[in-house]
Amino acid sequence: MNKIILVTGANRGIGLEIVKQLAKAGHTLILTARDEVKGREVIAKLKQEGLTVYFIQLDVSNRNQIIKTAEEIKNQFGKLDVLINNAAIMPRTNDKLFPVDENIIMDVMNTNAWGPLYLTDAVTNLMSRGGRIVNISSGGGSFDEPVGGWAPLYCISKSLLNTITRHADYYLSPKGITVNTMCPGWVKTDMGGQGANRSVEHGAETAVWLATAENIPGGKFWRDKKEIPW
Ligand code: NAP
Repeated sequence: MNKIILVTGANRGIGLEIVKQLAKAGHTLILTARDEVKGREVIAKLKQEGLTVYFIQLDVSNRNQIIKTAEEIKNQFGKLDVLINNAAIMPRTNDKLFPVDENIIMDVMNTNAWGPLYLTDAVTNLMSRGGRIVNISSGGGSFDEPVGGWAPLYCISKSLLNTITRHADYYLSPKGITVNTMCPGWVKTDMGGQGANRSVEHGAETAVWLATAENIPGGKFWRDKKEIPW
């Protein structure tokens, strides 16, 4: 069945690859990007590759833009089947927690955790039973993995995104909407770097599966299509 699917931060990296794989599978894709020019350039390239994908400009850390996006989806499509919260930042002060910088904290948390929660809130009334939210998290947010001395604020934001997932799934599952979170592995992108051991194609696979496969349970943390510890 054709689904209407929105992916955030999809002008490059894993988000763009998720859009490509899902569009090739015949779904209707809404690619969002915070930069209108970058987003429209990507849409034009996808068209050359034979993929027609819709565009909405969205900075996920901006609540007004989130509300506007939900209105645009309602007007243009009348509904949404799947939301993939992919956009994220890893701050430049990558390996340091102290001194604590309030501006960086707000930026990271608003983009990586609160933005996904606000967007979930804004679009779930456009979803019917079977609706899905897929949050792209990281093993760095797991309590099961050792603190590694890398990107502490980023890792904290992903732990927050994971707990948001569990609570959102609890409140949305009575409406038939499932919420999951996943780690794509270490992927060759601008964020992951060229030393990473996975291709974007591999990194996108589990998100595509969570978005479209039959009988996916909610409120779980996944990697490589298998449940992993919180
Ligand atoms: P990436 O190449 O750095 O791409 C990040 C995307 O997010 C870009 O399109 C960026 O847009 C967008 N973005 C950042 N802030 C935004 C905002 N406020 N509003 C809207 N879009 C915004 O990263 P990636 O590796 O593809 O990562 C995708 C997801 O996988 C992220 O959630 C990341 O945490 C997760 N992940 C990645 C890895 C890895 O090894 N790569 C590992 C674990 C988890 P601009 O072009 O405008 O900056």
